[in-house]
Amino acid sequence: MSSKIENLCIEKNMRMTDQRRIIARVLSDAEDHPDVEEVYRRSTEIDNQISIATVYRTVRLFEEADILERHDFRDGRSRYELVTETHHDHMIDIESGEVIEFVDDEIEALQKAIAKKLGYKLIDHRMELYGSKEK
Ligand SMILES: [Zn+2]
Repeated sequence: MSSKIENLCIEKNMRMTDQRRIIARVLSDAEDHPDVEEVYRRSTEIDNQISIATVYRTVRLFEEADILERHDFRDGRSRYELVTETHHDHMIDIESGEVIEFVDDEIEALQKAIAKKLGYKLIDHRMELYGSKEK
């Protein structure tokens, strides 16, 4: 069965190679926000002929096609996730690097209200919270 990303690529008439298909599968299956190194590691478990350069190129290609969203969670590594129709924000644990997704209706409403107060209609936003677990 083809992966979600592979189907999106087909819809966009992108040429698919076996290696691209594997990288698409790894990214479709990811439930976290992997960086290129991690995508490379998971991809080589399936096909050890895949190079890190291919992973870089493929990830960039998917990003340019609006299939992947890139995040910079301040650890110097770009992280990727599938573009979703529904919005969510991120809480980043600065000790473990764990990324928690959340949606908060009050914050969403507040952000719209702030934009409106400034004379804008809110189109998009990104919010990242950084924290360490309370002990
Ligand atoms: Zn996310």
